Amino acid sequence: MYRKGKLYFRYGTMGSAKTALLLTTAYNFEERHINYVCMKPAVDTREGSNVIRSRIGIERECTWIYPDTDLYHTIRNIFRSRGELIDWFLVDEAQFLTARQVDQLSRVVDDYGSNVVCYGLRTDFKSHLFEGSRRLFEIADTIDEIKSTCNCGHKTIINARLDANGGIVDEGAQVMIGGDERYVAVCRKCWRNRRIEQMSRAALPLFDEISIDPADDAQPESVL
Ligand SMILES: [Zn+2]
Repeated sequence: MYRKGKLYFRYGTMGSAKTALLLTTAYNFEERHINYVCMKPAVDTREGSNVIRSRIGIERECTWIYPDTDLYHTIRNIFRSRGELIDWFLVDEAQFLTARQVDQLSRVVDDYGSNVVCYGLRTDFKSHLFEGSRRLFEIADTIDEIKSTCNCGHKTIINARLDANGGIVDEGAQVMIGGDERYVAVCRKCWRNRRIEQMSRAALPLFDEISIDPADDAQPESVL
């Protein structure tokens, strides 16, 4: 039978229930006896166990993907050890894949007809594309946005990084593990407004130091 798979990219901001959707999909596959494998880049292995866990409490075992993992070979080995092709691969945190690994997944789709669904973030806390997400936008067959809403009602676009005081952070490494940082998904406008507000607050003490020369007020309007 001729199999034709697809490479999917489902992207959203933080908190848009991407992992919950992945796990729900896995659950549905189990109900219908469809074989699948979960995978996840091993960026934060503090948990120790190889599971994909959602805040809503479901979890599934996953295969770790390391930065130097060749996904084409890894998946071929999975086929060999199971003695059958796998129809679906569900990849969480796909933004952390390298461009090369996305290419390897696309070869799995093209050579074996499996479906690969990648869930991930579009951009980092500076609003720039992640490497894996960029490559997925470039070559995925199907791209869907998983939408979520900012407090103001607009669609969230930015994954803002917050410091311990809740201030928006503009500098730092793209991936920060184990720090005090938290993230909040906001719309573009709120992100801009909050940064402007933050900058003007930081600049306020300077205004106190500026002494206004009363002579400035006396300038004739003709100089305009
Ligand atoms: Zn907003």
